Amino acid sequence: MTIPIDPSLPEQRRSTRRAWRFMRWLVPMLLVLLFLAVLIWLPWQARQMESTERQEQLIADTLWVEQTLRFELARSEEALSALGADLVVAPMAQAKLQARFTQMFKNGPELVRVIWSDADGAVLDTHGSDLPAAGLPDTTLQAGEMARSMRRGRYSEPYGATPSTHGLIDFYLPLFRNGQFMGSLVATYSLQVLLDETVPWWFAQDNALSLLDRNELTVARRASGGPGRGVYTHQRELDLPGAQLVLATDSVKGAPRLLPNLLVGSVIMLALGLLLSLAALWRHISRTLAAERALRQQMAFRTAMENSLLTGLRARDLEGRVTYVNRAFCQIVGLPAEELIGKKPPMAYWAPEATAEYEERFQGILSGKVTPQFETVFQRSDGTRVPVLVFEAPLVERNGRHTGWMSSVLDITDRKRVEELNRQQEEKLQASARLATMGELSSMLAHELNQPLAAISSYTAGALNLLERAASSGEELKPGMLRHPLEQARQQAQRAGQIIRSVHEFVKKREPVRQEVPIRTVIDGVRALVELQTRQAGVALRVHIPPGLPPVLADRLLLEQVLLNLTRNAIEAMQDTRPEQRVLRIEADHEDGQVTVSVIDRGHGISPEVAERLFSPFYSTKAEGMGMGLSICRTAIEFHGGTLTHAPHPSGGTVFTFSLPAQAASRALG
Ligand code: ADP
Repeated sequence: MTIPIDPSLPEQRRSTRRAWRFMRWLVPMLLVLLFLAVLIWLPWQARQMESTERQEQLIADTLWVEQTLRFELARSEEALSALGADLVVAPMAQAKLQARFTQMFKNGPELVRVIWSDADGAVLDTHGSDLPAAGLPDTTLQAGEMARSMRRGRYSEPYGATPSTHGLIDFYLPLFRNGQFMGSLVATYSLQVLLDETVPWWFAQDNALSLLDRNELTVARRASGGPGRGVYTHQRELDLPGAQLVLATDSVKGAPRLLPNLLVGSVIMLALGLLLSLAALWRHISRTLAAERALRQQMAFRTAMENSLLTGLRARDLEGRVTYVNRAFCQIVGLPAEELIGKKPPMAYWAPEATAEYEERFQGILSGKVTPQFETVFQRSDGTRVPVLVFEAPLVERNGRHTGWMSSVLDITDRKRVEELNRQQEEKLQASARLATMGELSSMLAHELNQPLAAISSYTAGALNLLERAASSGEELKPGMLRHPLEQARQQAQRAGQIIRSVHEFVKKREPVRQEVPIRTVIDGVRALVELQTRQAGVALRVHIPPGLPPVLADRLLLEQVLLNLTRNAIEAMQDTRPEQRVLRIEADHEDGQVTVSVIDRGHGISPEVAERLFSPFYSTKAEGMGMGLSICRTAIEFHGGTLTHAPHPSGGTVFTFSLPAQAASRALG
């Protein structure tokens, strides 16, 4: 079954993620905006409240002033009524009347004038400023008429106010006796003085006060604190019978200002602080996010790197528990990471045959000691064995605390296979090289064996002749006569046997057997064969072995093979050398703990081009050469921990020298 893939799916997921991210920022942003709105609204509201409070205060104060003014006028009315009552009852002496007037003026400084008139309107007495020639103003006369008809005192409308003079108001009090109109008392008040004297200074300082008439004309005014601002104002009518007089107050205070307000100040500070801390938080979050992003990238990079490694990585804690493995390690052992992490030995990838070795190493780990590098074998889940090279190192944290062990594991299956192939190849090559040499040698052997065989044959024939001659002549045969030919024959037979044995040993494929070998034994071992070749090639052989040479630890036959190859090359190099110069020297020496053997010829020498490739397998300048001799020699010498070098001979030819570590001098052998 195939699952239909909706191509818009990732796009949808991306847009959902974007919406979520948007929401995550939107909610706190809205809350912050709301908070800021409340912060701004609060001082505005406070200002409103303060304003209302001031207005209410002004109303209350205005009411209080109005009451005070009313009270003052009422007190004056009362005094006037009392005087009126007295005047109606009995005539009053002039002096006494004046004294009463004076008393009234003293109590009410706002009084400008008092006029006492009879029923016909004729002035009986007056106190204060003079009555103008025009008499009482119309408004007072009208008030008087109303007062008389209502039989009660009455105020006139304010009058007399001009831009330069203040307004006045009259109180007309009709006097009756037994219901009969007896005259009137008219008191004139200065509205300005009324304001000045009655309103307390502190109120006048804060508010501009004015008295307005029916037409809203100012008839008196007091503004000791300066003109009003027109922000807090109130008007109140003075409740005076007959007159319409309005008290208007206008506060000198303006609307409450915003900035000096403590609340506003603190709110602004708070808002600023909030914005600043939000900005700082924003920066911090952006930085954290950037750092997190960088870390994620680095982690992804590291994981990709670890997964692409061909080297297996494994981390273990101090108790040997696996804490981390990379992909390559899982591939090497053929197990998933889940089956490895958290596990303690014995591990699933331990090969049963190597358990003892693992255990020993694990004990080392527990005691804090590891083998830094070792080869071992792991077992895959399918049972196959994997040869591995393991590097162990301590895991140390930045503060220097040792927390575990880190291992790098290399699968060396291929390397092992190549090594094995090489080894087999080398063995085959050595065997073939030996066989090739054998082929060459066999013809020489045949030729050389002819010599001893011919010698043996002639010696034995000589001996037989002697016997026959003695028998036929009847002479007695002395045993000493036969000794010489028989001894010679035996020696030749021995030599032939030695040559054959030596060749047999040489070509026989054998594992190297190391033992202490004196160099002399090695040289003696090949001497017969070398002599054979030198004699055939017309070369003189000189061997020099100083006494007291220490032995070397080596496989004798391998060394003999080396020597045979070197001498054969030397002899072949001297083919074109003049016969008297054809000398092959074998010299042994001992210095600096090394035993050296040099094979010296006077041949054609080695050119630099040949020298470059001298030791390469299959490199040969000879028509029938195999080019394996020197390569095998070097392998054999290095196998014994020695070196093989060559140098030109000062008077023509080449010196090949191999050196081997000498064994203890105390056991030196000649
Ligand atoms: P082969 O003898 O079969 O050629 P070798 O590996 O023994 O193979 O020698 C490689 C080559 O090194 C020879 O072909 C020869 O050119 C050169 N060579 C070896 N020994 C000598 C020597 N003593 N003098 C000059 N050339 C030499």
